[in-house]
Amino acid sequence: MVLQDEKKTKWRCVSYEKTKCRSVIYTTGKKVNCRQTHNHQAKPIDPKTILVPQYVKIVRS
Ligand SMILES: [Zn+2]
Repeated sequence: MVLQDEKKTKWRCVSYEKTKCRSVIYTTGKKVNCRQTHNHQAKPIDPKTILVPQYVKIVRS
């Protein structure tokens, strides 16, 4: 997570440091807003990562 205000949270790609990937997403409540695409192959999710599933609305721009 990079930046958070009351309504919107900005998330940057985990590979930003390595690949200068410009992919970012914004989450607003349960809405997910995708900006840019990855400039590299996305890594498969580490099965050790704990994920909390929830329904979200994805908006691509
Ligand atoms: Zn990326």
